Amino acid sequence: MDIQFDRHHIWHPYTSTINPLPCYPVSHANGVMIHLEDGQQLIDGMSSWWSAIHGYNHPKLNQAAHQQIDKMSHIMFGGLTHDPAIALCKNILDLVPSNLEHVFLADSGSVSVEVALKMALQYWYGKEAKQRATSNTPLRSKFLTLEHGYHGDTFAAMSVTDPNNSMHQMYKGFLPEHIFAQSPPHAQRQDGKWPEFDRNDVIDFEQKIIQHHQQLAAVILEPIVQGAGGMRIYHPQFLQAVRRLCDHYDVLLIVDEIATGFGRTGKLFACEHAQIQPDILCIGKALTSGYMTLAATITSNKVADGVCSSDAGCFMHGPTFMANPLACAVATASLDLIKTGAWQQQVLGIEHIFEQKLPELMQNDKVKFVRWLGAIGVVETHIAVNLENIQAHFVKHGVWIRPFGKLIYIMPPYISAADHIVQLIQAIESALCDDACFQK
Ligand SMILES: *Cc1c(COP(=O)(O)O)cnc(C)c1O
Repeated sequence: MDIQFDRHHIWHPYTSTINPLPCYPVSHANGVMIHLEDGQQLIDGMSSWWSAIHGYNHPKLNQAAHQQIDKMSHIMFGGLTHDPAIALCKNILDLVPSNLEHVFLADSGSVSVEVALKMALQYWYGKEAKQRATSNTPLRSKFLTLEHGYHGDTFAAMSVTDPNNSMHQMYKGFLPEHIFAQSPPHAQRQDGKWPEFDRNDVIDFEQKIIQHHQQLAAVILEPIVQGAGGMRIYHPQFLQAVRRLCDHYDVLLIVDEIATGFGRTGKLFACEHAQIQPDILCIGKALTSGYMTLAATITSNKVADGVCSSDAGCFMHGPTFMANPLACAVATASLDLIKTGAWQQQVLGIEHIFEQKLPELMQNDKVKFVRWLGAIGVVETHIAVNLENIQAHFVKHGVWIRPFGKLIYIMPPYISAADHIVQLIQAIESALCDDACFQK
């Protein structure tokens, strides 16, 4: 592989072109194993960033892709439709909360968030038409969200992502400013039970919604697990309180399940932990089990009707590759696997191992917290990792784990065997004992 070309000409996620960290050349992947060009095999602990839930090179998913590509790989979605999109949207509506009825297929998670935000704005634009004509009341154009959240890297998605993590100061004047409430503290279930909820944890959010609700188009948040903004797990009663406050103050609730959707947290969707229904739902990542990029924004009838009864009369968004048939066919096959229900035992099995093994890591001085939910395991350290060294350490130990900052976390494919999970945790344990894996 021409690694030198890659190093000199190709941007990788969140890296510098001036001084890029090394990248490991992959030749292929199968099941939970990533095969490097030099013949080394790594147990995957990342599911390619939450996506490859059924593992790599899956016969059923491959078959779906092969069958579809022989018919058509892509066709425009304006004025045309096709079975792969219809089958997929039927499957999606079977699985998501029952109040949701209209699916907008987008080409990435960030785009599905952009679409959700646009829909919320346009919903109020329609409702406020009369008001606009008669008064100067400010339009509902703000979003309320949580600190430590992550909703994507495009501009509107970034504007509701944690200001520090997404470096808002660099885009000042260009980025709309929204409202951030304190994110709730960590909550760790023990023996399947959540700890008691402290009502005080929702006060900041409550005050902000009281103060700003007349300008708020929507609240947007990640349910129960905040992913890339800090790998935080919070109490379902916080989410219930958010739903109640949104109802009370007539604010839409956008739930971003792009990371948590399709079983990752032990429920099909994380909002089921709180038994709430969103007005708008974003899904992505695991939708195609990591085969290709596809996401969706799904709304209730109320929202869809509101969006389209505005002056515009329609929703002004239509990506070129909307409802790409190849991606839809693979996603349908992935959701068929989800529908067998096998994921439940798989995720529970992974969670049991986390429950047994992760607390042992607390004995290491470098560890500040461990936490887990479903097939998500997190080790938070006191000092940030040295990414280059810890990456090399993990590869030497035959695993693929990619930490950031003070967070070493794993979210393995659901098909992982118990032994794979144990080996991932052992590799973390050995890294914790190697000072070179951490910053000075
Ligand atoms: C990854 C992620 C996104 C962005 O999805 P992309 O496909 O990377 O654009 C948005 N929200 C959450 C919660 C995510 O984890």
